[in-house]
Amino acid sequence: MYCSVMSGGIRGIDGFSVSVETDVSSGLPGFDIVGFVGSEVKEAKDRVRTALKNTGYMLPVARITINLSPGDIKKTGTGFDLPIALSVLSCMEEIRAEALEDVFVAGELSLSGEVCPTKGILPMIMMAKRCGIRKCIIPAANSAEGAVVEDIRVYPVSSLAQTVDLLSGNCDIKPVKNRLLTHLHTGKQYEHDFVQIRGQETARRGAEIAAAGLHNILVIGPPGAGKTLLAKCIPSILPPLSKEECLEVSAIYSIKGALSSDNPLIVRRPFVAAHSSSTDISLVGGGAVPRPGAVSLAHKGVLFLDEIPEFSRRSLETLRQPLEDGKVCITRNRDICVFPSDFMLIAAANPCPCGHYPDMNKCTCDEKKRARYLSKISGPFLDRMDLCIQANKVTCADLQGSGMPESSEAIRDRVIAAHDIQRRRFKGSGIQFNSQMGNRDIEKYCSLGRQESALMRELAEKQEMSARTYYRMLKVARTISDLAGREHISEEAILEAVRLKSRVLI
Ligand SMILES: [Zn+2]
Repeated sequence: MYCSVMSGGIRGIDGFSVSVETDVSSGLPGFDIVGFVGSEVKEAKDRVRTALKNTGYMLPVARITINLSPGDIKKTGTGFDLPIALSVLSCMEEIRAEALEDVFVAGELSLSGEVCPTKGILPMIMMAKRCGIRKCIIPAANSAEGAVVEDIRVYPVSSLAQTVDLLSGNCDIKPVKNRLLTHLHTGKQYEHDFVQIRGQETARRGAEIAAAGLHNILVIGPPGAGKTLLAKCIPSILPPLSKEECLEVSAIYSIKGALSSDNPLIVRRPFVAAHSSSTDISLVGGGAVPRPGAVSLAHKGVLFLDEIPEFSRRSLETLRQPLEDGKVCITRNRDICVFPSDFMLIAAANPCPCGHYPDMNKCTCDEKKRARYLSKISGPFLDRMDLCIQANKVTCADLQGSGMPESSEAIRDRVIAAHDIQRRRFKGSGIQFNSQMGNRDIEKYCSLGRQESALMRELAEKQEMSARTYYRMLKVARTISDLAGREHISEEAILEAVRLKSRVLI
């Protein structure tokens, strides 16, 4: 007897189709799983055999061979338990073979025959839909994830016995109601909003410019200046995620097992904070079975690195590839896993080791100590930062200031308008935002008038700017002009761009 059931595996953030084939034939009794499988898949043998027994099915005394095809991509995870059990039952004629045609199945089995949740259900259902499948059977605990994919019927099951009943037409499980639009329309409010930030005019303005051109920024300020709050507010001034982006970001969280029934779709731009003690794997992803790291969980959102001088050079080095390419490539088992990592980076640092500089009454660091501290963030990492903004301690006057600070919504409207200008400007050029311009693009899109050119030259000479700093200033000036809706870069924009950088970035 032979039977085949469709299931799926995960490669990077995409699902791929796996055909679970079972053959039961006479011969020496045995139960083998073949087809380039990881150790969890090999262990499925014992889980499936016991779950079948505890559901009331005795395996035939025969040779049972399971093959997971295609044989050239490694299959990992525990989601193959349920399809293996069903294909065995189909060979035993407990389930009609036709009932399993064009059905996608995934789920882990407990020894008692319960169907347990599995990681990566969302990208797998998206893949099944692309393959033209119209019916999916998944663990009930993953049903909220399944309910966000449109135009496919998703049946949640909680036990092997219930699955057999469903396929035999003996039980009335309804497909989950699609909730994609509900999720998209509700809960887009951000927890952190610029209305919560009083004072800090320079930092607010810097954050707006950074969001408008998607520039990475370094925020320097003493402890208690609200650097973290400022960073947390930035996702709220970026344009809302599109439906496709929501699904793409959610797929990454699904693979990580980080979606819940309360939060099955990521509808807000992510904010991910990484600490200096984070391991390389938790930062950029990896592991024996590659999993996404912080840079991918921050995809389409913000990655925040607090106390950046505390990060080891090695950690900062590992961030270089994701920052430059917008993706992480991990090679495993002759295969390459690609995780997207297109994020905006916000790094924060104290102005000196004690944190109080330039308040010389409190700062206990000498010049040498300060220089050594900030030099830790020099080099290639700093090259990726376009802006450096100063956050100051909030004063009493700030807190008592009249009027409400401007809300994120109002700032977001200006940011979206600036993004629209950039989209039109860069159409067909392969880049999207001012921050992505190379030197050639800068020469093409940031041409200066006679007066502006003279001003730039004067500033560059006075401040002994390197060529790199010069180009960086022009990129930021381009964004400032876009925010003002100006076609040409103005003198005011140049002056503001120069004001917004600190000595650290020269
Ligand atoms: Zn100090």
